[in-house]
Amino acid sequence: MGNKILVIIGNGMASNRVLEELGPEHPFAQIDILSDEAITHYNRIMLSPLLAKETTLDAITPHSGDWYSQHRINIHLSCPVTGIDRKEKTVSCGDKIFAYDALIIATGSRSFIPNIPGSDADNVIGFRTMTDVDVMEERLQNMQHVTVIGAGLLGVEAATGLQSRGVQTTLVHRNPVLMNRQLDAMAAGILNTELAQRGVDVRTATSPVELIKDSNQVTQITLEHDGQRQTLDTDLIVFATGILPNKEIGEQAGLLCSRGIQVNAQMVTSDPAIFSLGECCEFEGNTYGLVAPIWDQAKVLANELKNRYSDESLPADLQQVASYEEKTHLTKLKVSGLDMHSIGRFDIDEFDAEEGIEILRLSDIDDGIYKKLVLKNNRIIGVVCVGDVADSFWYHQLMTEQTDITPIRTTLLLGKAWSKAG
Ligand SMILES: Cc1cc2nc3c(=O)[nH]c(=O)nc-3n(C[C@H](O)[C@H](O)[C@H](O)COP(=O)(O)OP(=O)(O)OC[C@H]3O[C@@H](n4cnc5c(N)ncnc54)[C@H](O)[C@@H]3O)c2cc1C
Repeated sequence: MGNKILVIIGNGMASNRVLEELGPEHPFAQIDILSDEAITHYNRIMLSPLLAKETTLDAITPHSGDWYSQHRINIHLSCPVTGIDRKEKTVSCGDKIFAYDALIIATGSRSFIPNIPGSDADNVIGFRTMTDVDVMEERLQNMQHVTVIGAGLLGVEAATGLQSRGVQTTLVHRNPVLMNRQLDAMAAGILNTELAQRGVDVRTATSPVELIKDSNQVTQITLEHDGQRQTLDTDLIVFATGILPNKEIGEQAGLLCSRGIQVNAQMVTSDPAIFSLGECCEFEGNTYGLVAPIWDQAKVLANELKNRYSDESLPADLQQVASYEEKTHLTKLKVSGLDMHSIGRFDIDEFDAEEGIEILRLSDIDDGIYKKLVLKNNRIIGVVCVGDVADSFWYHQLMTEQTDITPIRTTLLLGKAWSKAG
């Protein structure tokens, strides 16, 4: 262990994963984590099951105070970083100053709340942090109706969670297809039916026009569908209409930024002592919204930090340099009793003009089962599995390995157990 100090801005998913990858034998004398949240790291993706009361905050908080002290980590909570002085190698949080040898910016992103009339009211929130869940919890007792805007993964999880807590929930989606980034029209139809059966009032091809306020509280929402307007009474608006990378702290420090803080394949920013990963960073024009690529980034970054900051580090020419690469990842909806997985270019259909494309489908709509495999030149390039997701990881593997599926074509849709090549 040397005498170097690592400072990390943010205590979210990316930051925690880097700490786990570094392990207790990390090369730093001390790690300071500066977090603007009031509680230590929790598993953000489990906020949906937490809202649905399927888990507890304890169960989604992976590490105790002992774990942090064993790893020589000091956590500074409610400590929003306000500036980085790259010349002095310090970070400021109000009047507190933290010196660093290496700095990681892992500030994630924030909910995007569109600027429609009334969206500045107190009861308009995103779904991002424990504070958002606390706001929903506080209001649950006295709420008759909530409107969730945006039916991507997050919006569907928020709507089912709130409806399961006994509040009439309207889910508004601009696109005619629910979860259109993750599902094709057939799968979205199954989802629509399932949500309606659970009592969610689903409005597709519908946009919010105005939030009508009374003393800075929204009391009604006006929706537009097919040129027709309708106004509903509502007590809370939850926007799940996308995210914005928290890149400003890097931008103010003069780091190269565009949509996010730009990094190279070792997660190094335009300043060699500053690293970034997660939803605040940008690599080769890509920004992020799911944890799978962030796990890869954390591994690469931990490796880079060990190479650079270990006392007994190997000469540069003998070091194993790890590089981050883009991959295709599987997306899952986390609503109990509603299994939906998708991967890659699933939204291509039979009429697509691209050469070599073929679609394999299996469906039992009454039982809520639907599988679609998109093939190109006998290789899987896209998958949707609804209801029966037992083989989606296998399909993902075949896709990643670019396996020629010709020998198992006839049994492929039935899954691995039926396919000899499994
Ligand atoms: C409800 C929900 C469900 C999700 N479900 C899934 C899922 O099923 N699968 C999946 O892959 N992904 C899911 N995601 C997305 C996933 O959570 C994110 O991709 C992941 O959290 C990004 O990690 P991050 O560390 O970059 O950002 P975050 O986890 O957001 O962490 C960033 C941290 O930095 C803090 N911060 C920001 N600015 C400052 C500052 N100036 N000073 C100090 N601290 C600061 C933030 O408050 C936050 O604590 C879900 C997200 C939500 C909200």
